[in-house]
Amino acid sequence: MTTQSAPLFTATTLGSPRVGPNRELKRAVEKYWSKKIDRAELEAVAATLRGDTVRHLADAGVDSIPVNTFSYYDHMLDQSVLLGTLPPRVAPVTDMLDRYFAAARGGTYDGMDIAPLEMTKWFDTNYHYLVPEIAPDTAFSLDPAKILAELDEAASIDIAARPVIVGPITYLALSKAVDGAGAPIERLDELTAVYAELLQLLAAKGVGWVQIDEPILATDSIDHLGALAGNVYSRLGALPTRPAIFVATYFGPLTDALPALAHTPIEAIGVDLVYGCVDALAAVPALADKTVVAGIVDGRNIWRTDLAAALDTLDTVRRAAGNVVVSTSCSTLHVPYSLEPETGIDDALRSRLAFGAEKVAEVVTLAKGLAQGREAIASEIETSNAAAALRSTDPRLNNTDIRSRLDAIRAAGASGRGIAADRRTAQQKRLNLPTLPTTTIGSYPQTTEIRVARADLRAGRIDEAEYVQKMKDEVAAVIALQEELGIDVLVHGEPERNDMVQYFAEQLDGFFATQNGWVQSYGSRCVRPPILYGDVARPRPMTVAWAAYAQSLTAKPVKGMLTGPVTILAWSFVRDDQPLADTAAQVALAIRDETVDLEKAGIAIIQVDEPALRELLPLRSEEKQDYLAWSVEAFRLATAGVRDDTQIHTHLCYSEFGEVIGAIADLDADVTSIEAARSHMEVLTDLNAVGFSNGVGPGVYDIHSPRVPTTDEMIVALREALAAVPAERLWVNPDCGLKTRKTDEVIESLRNMVAAAKVVRAER
Ligand code: GLN
Ligand code: ZN
Repeated sequence: MTTQSAPLFTATTLGSPRVGPNRELKRAVEKYWSKKIDRAELEAVAATLRGDTVRHLADAGVDSIPVNTFSYYDHMLDQSVLLGTLPPRVAPVTDMLDRYFAAARGGTYDGMDIAPLEMTKWFDTNYHYLVPEIAPDTAFSLDPAKILAELDEAASIDIAARPVIVGPITYLALSKAVDGAGAPIERLDELTAVYAELLQLLAAKGVGWVQIDEPILATDSIDHLGALAGNVYSRLGALPTRPAIFVATYFGPLTDALPALAHTPIEAIGVDLVYGCVDALAAVPALADKTVVAGIVDGRNIWRTDLAAALDTLDTVRRAAGNVVVSTSCSTLHVPYSLEPETGIDDALRSRLAFGAEKVAEVVTLAKGLAQGREAIASEIETSNAAAALRSTDPRLNNTDIRSRLDAIRAAGASGRGIAADRRTAQQKRLNLPTLPTTTIGSYPQTTEIRVARADLRAGRIDEAEYVQKMKDEVAAVIALQEELGIDVLVHGEPERNDMVQYFAEQLDGFFATQNGWVQSYGSRCVRPPILYGDVARPRPMTVAWAAYAQSLTAKPVKGMLTGPVTILAWSFVRDDQPLADTAAQVALAIRDETVDLEKAGIAIIQVDEPALRELLPLRSEEKQDYLAWSVEAFRLATAGVRDDTQIHTHLCYSEFGEVIGAIADLDADVTSIEAARSHMEVLTDLNAVGFSNGVGPGVYDIHSPRVPTTDEMIVALREALAAVPAERLWVNPDCGLKTRKTDEVIESLRNMVAAAKVVRAER
């Protein structure tokens, strides 16, 4: 097929969710892993989901349907299979699907331990992909079985299918070099040849359009992106036989890459208009010969599109482009399937929301409006305008009490505490802790009994009082255990929390917790982000009763346990009608109120977790400073309402802090616990280098593994840490919460940890 014969299309999405509207794939995959169902049953579930997905798009009026968007685990892993780059360590697993899962999850095969690929965040979303490994001897070779099978499946139900693949620049930019290989991007020429082979194969199959995702072009994470894009797509565009090429970009504005792509022979370029790059289009005259796929419907947040405003933007696009296709800004993988099951939403809020299915409808409506004029979609525009109007007058979005209180507190300079050294003295006087105090990060194992009790409560089999009693029993057991182990600073164990963000969202005004709003986080793991739609306020204390109860059981200090404002934002769908900084400050105020109430209840140590501080860091350099400033400000606002002799802790999960290391110091928590599994020295020296001089607890063992650490290895870790920080500042703790571990492992591990602390303490 030559490119001229590819039919134009008008309405599409860049990709679809795949876990199933009721997480059918998650359940099937997990059953397959635990051998409760066989291959055929798994494949049947997958085929049904794929069929439902494309049929739904077709029925809605989408006239070019993305396929190859299904995945048993992750689309980057699928791309690694397509390009033949799975690491050699999985080769002994002969069955291809099991090999795929081995690369994703690791495991033991024929008595051999296989480490999984590393997992990391997909750009600045909460989706995680498996990082391809490029070794010096990695050879690229095409394995198109999956993409061809999905095309055949679509052909059998007569659907205009457009296969979606990850582009070569993005693929290599997101890969990691192993075994001493050079930067993966150096292999771009070689890899482009494999893409050329694939395009020819697809043309031979009669494929009209292919979508090649290059979100990396919307970042500034590697140099010369414009030149790289120009080279790759000139070359692929020059192929004598190929499908029409649509290069999709998203999650940011296109700078150099836009003119570069426009000057190649490709047919279509996708731009993320939600991110706001409409002005850049007019500056590229070469777009007059191209199709611009206008990502105008937000694919990653859950707000209804303002149709009138969107049509204005689309008119601007039409002036710059040869042809315009209406689309979501990115795959709808990042939003729940449909609003339909959400029966608990009030009408005013519902009128403002659009989940996956509703977004598809918006795309089709806008395409119709673009083609036939606004009159053709007059009633839809009216509904959209009404929703916008309702939004602007909803008092829940403008809580004047909260706003004026926040202004007053900020005006009074409320984000600073006393001098750190003075605080340390006051706290030591109050707490009288030994050197190298031992503690844990907050959660204890979420046992079957805890889960059963929560399910029983939801199903009405037990009442609230009975549930609370069960959780109190659990708290008492966890406190008794910590006393028995000889830990110095105790926690209540967090049994009452399903999730560290949702738990607070359920208790704060301005949040809505969905019933079925699941989105894939990684593999079979899904999360249900709450919707932060309005002004945030704390109607009543949220954690005080639990903390006070735990404290009543022991003479040792119990840490109050809260989630910080940045993490609450990072793991929610957040309102888009005001700067994130303002929303963060409102959440911070609610947390601040909670710290003050905990203090009043006699709690002397309060931990405010910010594991997502690194996650929310923007992709583009010019936005990073602003983010770091407001996120630090929000944390300080949340934690500066307490007295100097109340000790503030924070916890962060990853040790790859890089660009946020200075911000960690600026948080000015009295004690920071951090993941440091790889090298204790490294993270501590990094902190020293930015002038951090408060308490620090580099995790002395990795809780992500079921292995029980020995006393000796933790002694080594502590001695290593003491080479970097003085004993007065060093804390002893695991590297994260214990909720995913088994009780037996936890008891043994902590017993060894306390023993290690004693040995090293005695050496002082
Ligand atoms: N306090 C939380 C816990 O212990 C912290 C979890 C996290 O860092 N993600 O589970
Ligand atoms: Zn953690």
